[in-house]
Amino acid sequence: MEIIEVPVVIVGAGPAGIATAGCLNKLNIPNIVLERDDCNASFYRKRTHDNLKLHLDKKFCSLPHYPIPPSLPNFVTRVQFLRYIESYVAHFNVAIKYNRAVESAVVYERSNKWRVVAKDTSSGTYETYVSDFLVVATGENSEGYIPEIEGLDKYDGVYMHSSKPKEGPFAMKMKNGTTPIIDMGCVKKIKNRQVKVFPAILSIEEAKTVQFTNGQRAQFDIIIFATGYRTNVLSWLQDYEILFNEDGMPIPSYPNHWGGEQGIYCAGFSRLGLEGISYDAKNIANHIQYTINLRESFNH
Ligand SMILES: Cc1cc2nc3c(=O)[nH]c(=O)nc-3n(C[C@H](O)[C@H](O)[C@H](O)COP(=O)(O)OP(=O)(O)OC[C@H]3O[C@@H](n4cnc5c(N)ncnc54)[C@H](O)[C@@H]3O)c2cc1C
Repeated sequence: MEIIEVPVVIVGAGPAGIATAGCLNKLNIPNIVLERDDCNASFYRKRTHDNLKLHLDKKFCSLPHYPIPPSLPNFVTRVQFLRYIESYVAHFNVAIKYNRAVESAVVYERSNKWRVVAKDTSSGTYETYVSDFLVVATGENSEGYIPEIEGLDKYDGVYMHSSKPKEGPFAMKMKNGTTPIIDMGCVKKIKNRQVKVFPAILSIEEAKTVQFTNGQRAQFDIIIFATGYRTNVLSWLQDYEILFNEDGMPIPSYPNHWGGEQGIYCAGFSRLGLEGISYDAKNIANHIQYTINLRESFNH
């Protein structure tokens, strides 16, 4: 297995990973970003509607040291934001390795170094990265969450999370112009009783029968779970408890959430959107620089 040594490994090439790499590059601290997808900002590229606009003014959405240009409107479109991300990556010369799904990360107490194993999904081979610092930037919303429901494994219909609209019969519904997700017309349809609202699901009975907590039963061909998202930190970061709790969120609360012991940091876990990401990225880069300087002064 190939072993690559680098001072800082950043996992995830969304806005948080890219912003952290940009801040580190500004300080001349070598780093590498590992991204499981084949592109950067994959959330905005692949999982959002084409007509999405950022819902906050651009002054709250710029990444550090490189504002969204004045020529753009205050509320930038998805495409404008993606172009901005591209120019940020080029401006700061951010090094991203695509198709690298990180499968494990452990810290070796004796050397205090991180060992990060990534699968190159294009070749099926594995690489090991050895680093002094690890930045977790895999997102607050990296995995669709489907709750445990009794009988779901025996359900005869199709079920999926709402984050997967390109799969299965939901795609056909999208082509025909009707989507069962909450949009601007949904509340009206609920009021007109065109869309029925049921209470929580209690269990799935035989075939396609769903039982609700009020005792009602009904049959459905498709169940789409719009039940939120979770972080995926616990699935790959073995030594997560240095910084994260059992829900995959940082243990320290804001504004101290971004750093733990043993060279681990997280960017993009403040629940404060892109403004929070900028705050994290700047703090992480400055703290890494401070730690490197401190170590060097001890060694002299
Ligand atoms: C619909 C929507 C609109 C939003 N609009 C705004 C807005 O207007 N303003 C604002 O401030 N915020 C907004 N946000 C919030 C926030 O800015 C975004 O969620 C943003 O994408 C978060 O960036 P991130 O880098 O933390 O995470 P992500 O964009 O999710 O990036 C994480 C990256 O990590 C990669 N990854 C995950 N696991 C692994 C692994 N094991 N190995 C390698 N790579 C991995 C993923 O592929 C992904 O590329 C919005 C959020 C949503 C859901």
